[in-house]
Amino acid sequence: MSRNQHQPIVGTAPEYTVDTDEVVWLLGTQLSERSGPLAHADGPRRVLLIEARDFARRKPYHHHKLTLVFAAMRRFRDRLRAAGHDVTYIQAETFADGLDRFFAESDARLVAMESPSYGSRRRRSKLVDAAGGTVRFVENELFASTKTAFDEWADGDGFEHEQFYRWMRQESGVLMASDGPVGGSWNYDEQNREFPPEEWETPPASTFDHGETVMETATWVADEFETWGESSGFDWPVTREQARKQLRQFVAVRLPEFGPYQDAMRTDDWAMAHALLSPALNLGLLHPVEAVEAIESAYHDRPAVGLPSAEGCIRQLLGWREFMRHVYREAMPDLARANRLDGAEPLPDIYWNGDTEMTCLRETVGDVHERGYAHHIQRLMVLANFAALWGVEPSELNDWFHATFVDAYHWVTTPNVVEMGQYAHGAFATKPYVSSANYIDGMSNYCDSCRYDQSATTGEDACPYNALYWDFLDRNEEDLRSNHRMGLMYGHVDDKRDDEEMEAIRKRVKGLREMEADNDL
Ligand code: FAD
Repeated sequence: MSRNQHQPIVGTAPEYTVDTDEVVWLLGTQLSERSGPLAHADGPRRVLLIEARDFARRKPYHHHKLTLVFAAMRRFRDRLRAAGHDVTYIQAETFADGLDRFFAESDARLVAMESPSYGSRRRRSKLVDAAGGTVRFVENELFASTKTAFDEWADGDGFEHEQFYRWMRQESGVLMASDGPVGGSWNYDEQNREFPPEEWETPPASTFDHGETVMETATWVADEFETWGESSGFDWPVTREQARKQLRQFVAVRLPEFGPYQDAMRTDDWAMAHALLSPALNLGLLHPVEAVEAIESAYHDRPAVGLPSAEGCIRQLLGWREFMRHVYREAMPDLARANRLDGAEPLPDIYWNGDTEMTCLRETVGDVHERGYAHHIQRLMVLANFAALWGVEPSELNDWFHATFVDAYHWVTTPNVVEMGQYAHGAFATKPYVSSANYIDGMSNYCDSCRYDQSATTGEDACPYNALYWDFLDRNEEDLRSNHRMGLMYGHVDDKRDDEEMEAIRKRVKGLREMEADNDL
């Protein structure tokens, strides 16, 4: 099936033209000429890019994240100029300063693509207004589905990912046969939970030859901002060509094993067979539809790409990524502040210094520190799980993810962290994604080299996840016991209460909190 790879394929893509006297205002997360205003112009245009710095001073962002955003903007500026566009590139402290400077010299009307960030259109309109200019907003085309299509589908009935995903498949025709889903099933999740044999070698990840612009940007970022994480070894795609290379390499080399090992975690293996595409997708360097098409074609053309791999990855892109974007739209602003389990603990220092004897947390924080990346199960079942069990205030965890991951933007981090990871709102999660050491032990080799005993709950060698897990269930009983999906777990809590084990668990948790305060966990 032939689809426009740079526009939504579910819902009606917007139609408009860009006049020659309009100036296209692009954000650093809209680095595309194939989607948005530049794709609707019939020739070169005036373009405005504002490199605002104040946001980068608000948090200790990962060095690689700031390098990625600023270098990608600068490379995109050069690319547009080479293609004949007349680019005004303003380096300013704030957007307000940048717009003031722009409108001091121009009375042109701006045309701007909406951003998925909550309140962005209102804030940007106000800034343009204050600078004495005008702006016309057009719909964001960097997703596979439109807002209107989703809203008509959801029709105020609440959100359920699996239903949404099936609807996306039907509407787009992706992995569909004439009589239903290709292969007969919608979902091969059951086949996405294997752990690789010891001799399995991770397929290599792409590397990039970064030229002067990136190197200069990396040095400037280190001098200019208070960053967190490694300041060397930056290796993320910053141009469309590099993003395409990342996609090609994933589909050619990594995709066949993406499916089976999607949920597995190993020490010294930061990428497994994951796509590593989110940084480029979230900047607009790649469109999700082109990634979906490349994966679907590989499935049809190459026997090595099994359906569990192709469907598994398409479910992430066409299902989860789109779903999160719409849930965010619908659930903001409450989502960002949601805290229905009343988490009130500050984020343990381990998230910043990785200083712990728990191998899973140390390795995962180490991965994030090194590259601003950890894969999905590390994010969900190690980082978010521990924070939920610990009782961290969800927005503090959200801030940490936002600062430390190269692919983190408010629209995508907030539903993933606050709702999926912390069960804080109720927009779509039907139960908390929490587990004891059992899950981590089953899906990783972390426990093999850990000082803690994954099978013990109390005692000084017991894995902290275990006592924290039972304590979590105990302290949140009022909110969770009536949830029918938690029935089995509360059966176990009752057993523990009968033999007074719960008292020992509470004591262990108190001890763990003291150890954390002493940096001794
Ligand atoms: P793969 O696992 O190979 O998946 C392929 C693609 O599917 C990804 O590139 C991504 O675009 C998309 N995808 C998969 N799952 C999701 C999801 N739940 N939400 C959105 N897109 C998804 N994703 C981000 O892009 N930015 C974030 O800041 C972010 N924070 C997260 C925080 C938590 C606590 C959790 C549980 C998930 C988070 N995710 C986030 C979703 C997901 O973990 C990442 O998209 C994925 O790990 C990116 O790596 P990859 O490209 O190798 O993805």
